[in-house]
Amino acid sequence: MEKVEILGVKIDNLSLQEVLEKISRFLDSADQHFICTPNPEFLIKAQKDEKFKGILNYADIAVADGIGLVKAAKFLGRYLQRVAGVDLVWSLAELAEQKNCSIYFLGAGDLVAAAAAAVLKRDFSGLKIAGAESGGEIIDPFFTDEDLIGRINDAAPRILLVALGQGKQEKWIFAHLDKLPSVKLAVGVGGSFDYISGLTPRAPKFLRRAGLEWLYRLIREPKRWPRILNAIIVFPLLILKEKIFGKKNPPPEISGGTTD
Ligand code: UDP
Repeated sequence: MEKVEILGVKIDNLSLQEVLEKISRFLDSADQHFICTPNPEFLIKAQKDEKFKGILNYADIAVADGIGLVKAAKFLGRYLQRVAGVDLVWSLAELAEQKNCSIYFLGAGDLVAAAAAAVLKRDFSGLKIAGAESGGEIIDPFFTDEDLIGRINDAAPRILLVALGQGKQEKWIFAHLDKLPSVKLAVGVGGSFDYISGLTPRAPKFLRRAGLEWLYRLIREPKRWPRILNAIIVFPLLILKEKIFGKKNPPPEISGGTTD
């Protein structure tokens, strides 16, 4: 399988269909698997957080969630296909219904996780929702909340979707997957619950097709400015450096992003 390494993070060049085929095999396997959905911000964060970088590279699949990674790969003379995290969740729900695998929704707000689950259940009526909750306030993703682990284990899901924001969700999965034996697939899904629940509208299709979803978010949520600047200024600079020097040497990150 072809992996494309960008700024030290290995990304899989897979189409959504190919990812789903792999997931189908994962769900039939006795082993546990973990999928992450990096975008340029993940890679910026990973430059300063070796643990996070290691966890991204440990994932069974890392899909390119965002046009930024596709364009960066192209600039570096490689090829990546884009798999938007939210599309992956949607297709995964359909597959879970077909394969009779229950899903537990962890993260975002209690109501957001439950609303996202309800929307998917509306579209895939046979889908089994094992549970939906925010998980409480998770500050340290390596801390084990035994009650939370107990609740998930009681519900015994085959699939666990974790929406705790970039970094936190991957670390939480890495630290806790082996404590959740029923879970055969865990996926870090970022803001997917917000989009699927309808709480945060996605950009219109023509903007998405033009690779301008970030511009839409910027206009809707001005507090994302620093993060978007990271994605459209810091990230391209890092990629340019990688192209010229073949090694990363990050310029300072613009402050105001998430802190985990
Ligand atoms: N989130 C959460 N706990 C946290 C941080 C984030 O539940 O400590 C949720 C947030 O409500 C959202 C999702 O994680 O539903 C993704 O967060 P964000 O929009 O910040 O996206 P990301 O950081 O992954 O780009």
